[in-house]
Order: sequence, then C-alpha cells, then structure tokens
Amino acid sequence: MKLAQRVSALTPSTTLAITAKAKELKEQGHDVIGLGAGEPDFNTPQYIIDAAVRSMEEGHTKYTPSGGLPALKKAVIEKFKEDQGLDYAPSEIIVGTGAKHILYTLFQALLDEADEVIIPTPYWVSYPEQVKLAGGEPVYVEGLESNDFKITAEQLEAVITPKTKAVIINSPSNPTGSLYSKEELKQLGDVCLKHDILIVSDEIYEKLVYGEVTHTSIAEVSDEFKRQTVVVNGVSKSHSMTGWRIGYAAGPAELIKAMTNLASHSTSNPTTSAQYGAIAAYTEDDGSVEVMRSAFEDRLNKVYVKLVAIPGVSCVKPKGAFYLFPNVSEAAKLNGYDDVDKWVEALLAEEKVALVPGSGFGAPHNVRLSYATSLEALEEALIRIERFVRAKT
Ligand code: PLP
Repeated sequence: MKLAQRVSALTPSTTLAITAKAKELKEQGHDVIGLGAGEPDFNTPQYIIDAAVRSMEEGHTKYTPSGGLPALKKAVIEKFKEDQGLDYAPSEIIVGTGAKHILYTLFQALLDEADEVIIPTPYWVSYPEQVKLAGGEPVYVEGLESNDFKITAEQLEAVITPKTKAVIINSPSNPTGSLYSKEELKQLGDVCLKHDILIVSDEIYEKLVYGEVTHTSIAEVSDEFKRQTVVVNGVSKSHSMTGWRIGYAAGPAELIKAMTNLASHSTSNPTTSAQYGAIAAYTEDDGSVEVMRSAFEDRLNKVYVKLVAIPGVSCVKPKGAFYLFPNVSEAAKLNGYDDVDKWVEALLAEEKVALVPGSGFGAPHNVRLSYATSLEALEEALIRIERFVRAKT
C-alpha cells in the first residue's frame, strides 16, 4: 500500500522505541529498570475517580460541546484566575483530548504551508512532528547547556524570518526540567511582540516545580503578552491523569474558535466522564497534587547527587517536571562509545537499565531519565549505571 507522504516522513518516538525494547527484555525474564516513563507513577487521586464514576451513574454518558463542558471551562477559567491572576472568557478556552492533541489542533488551525515555528532545543519529541504534519517548518534554536538549556532573546530574534508564525516555550521543560524566570520570559515576549509572533506556552508541568523557584506563565507578564499567547496545559502530569486525556488551551478567541471547529470534525469532544473527573480535579483539591510534587522533589534531591557522582556524567539540576537530562558523552567515551545512542543500547543490553537517548530531543550528548518511578528502582538503576561506566574505564 502506498501511504501518504505525511506519515512516511514522521519520525517514530524514541521514547516509545526504548520502552518497547525494555518490554521485550522484561518478557524474556530479565530484571529491567525502565526510566523512560513520561507519566507520574501514582494512581489518579480517588476523589477524581469517584467524580467520574458518579457522572456516569448519573447518566452523563453522551456527547458534550466540542470545546468542552461549560462547567469544565468555568473550572479552567477559575484555575487561571487563581494561579496566574489571568482573566479568560469561555470563548477563549478549549478543552481537548490531552495537551498533545490540543497542540496538534493548534498547529492545524494556525499554520499554512512553509510557515515557520521556532522550537528551542532540547524539545519535546512531538513538537517538530506536529508542526510538520500541519505543513509547517520547525526552526531550531539551541538552548545551551551552559544556560540551563534555555534560549535567549538574542538567539530568538536571530532566527525570525517573514515566515515565522510562532515560537514554543515549554517551561518547566520536558526533557530538561529547566524553568524560565519572569525576567527571561519578558525578554523573549518582547521579541515576539515586536515581530508579531504567537507564543505557544506549554505549561503542562506547571505544578511540578522544586526548590525556591516559582512558575511564571508568559501570559501573566502583561496584558499585551496575554493577547500574544496561547497557553496549553492539562491535568495529565499535575493530577496523575495521563490516561484520562484531558488538556486545554487558553488564547485568542479567533484561534480557539478555529480549533473548536476542527475538534468538532475530529474528536467531537473529550470523553465525557473524563471531563467530569477534571472538573473535580480543579474544584475539589484534597492536597494530593502537593503530596505528589513533594515526592518528586524528594526523589530528585536524592538521585541527583548520586547521578553526578558517576564518572563522566554532568547534569544541570532540573527545577521542574520529573526528568533528569545528564550529559553522558564523557561517560560514553570512557566506555568506548562516541555515539550516546549506542551507549544507551549497550547499557540496556548489559545492565538492563532503559534510558531515553537525547538525540530524539535534539540533544545527542544527553540522555533522559524519568524519576517518576520508585526511589528504590532509581537507586538500583544508578548503581547499575555506575557499575557499567566503571567496568570499562
Ligand atoms: N507537553 C509536554 C512537554 C509533555 O511532556 C507532554 C506529555 O508527555 C504533553 C505536552 C502532553 O500531555 P497530555 O497529552 O497527556 O496532556
């Protein structure tokens, strides 16, 4: 069968590839530790599950408006008001089937052939593919490791062309855990205002921030910034609801309307009971978001010191999300590998630890380790990685 060009050009997800290999080894009876997961290891809080079950029992089992239940939009609006002091109207909100599909719909609604979208590296694997699927061109800007993997306003301005339509800011970032300060966001936003570029602010890890720092949404810097920004967020990471598929966007009404029209012909609506669960998530907080956040922070602090003690490994300490993104190029060299991807494969084959190679995120010297797994498994994984590096040095 001759498939469409648009799918043959897709790059398969590196995260999924390593997970599949790890699974295969597990099925063969090997004791594999997988650190590839992009989701919290906690179950969804019970009050959310109860609300979803109740909604079904009460007969809420039919279609909803394409852009989401009015009550959920209201809960999202209140969340923005409370967390960021931002005021949105219902016409400026769309709820969709996860932040991933919200982003997909956004690029479909925004981009014409050859429009450019600036993507800072290291990036979340789906951004370039989603831009390309919408006919757009990803333009990469390197977030230097020496600048905590963040891009500067000068770097941003240097790649802007007449075809630039948008820039993606992901703070806290997957895969690096970096967080932009309010001042840094202001500098980036000023460039976007000057050139009239839409800011796509992916804030899915907003609630997972550690230490003294706090999360700032670029939309809250000023009213002008808010008008120039579409914020993407969801409950997957904050409330451990990855399987529920609820995400949303807040932004210019014209864009939100176009996205809602697209949704009406693609998803119809996000799953009804999941929307009721999400309403509960935002209106009946029982403290579990903070319990999960502090468990991640505890793991990060314990694991980070052990990780950077491994020969040839250096790591910018993350400020958010649940990933570590160490540079392992020296460790790989100690083991005789110039290519970190090959080192990752050898580590999996010999020590049965699955990491995600950074090449898929546009950072070939790094690897991604998720600490959304038990401390016990993390500590054992680090013992194995250290043993692997030292065995051949
Ligand atoms: N954005 C980033 C940076 C992510 O890491 C993810 C999930 O891995 C998403 C968006 C999508 O989240 P979801 O579709 O589960 O809401």
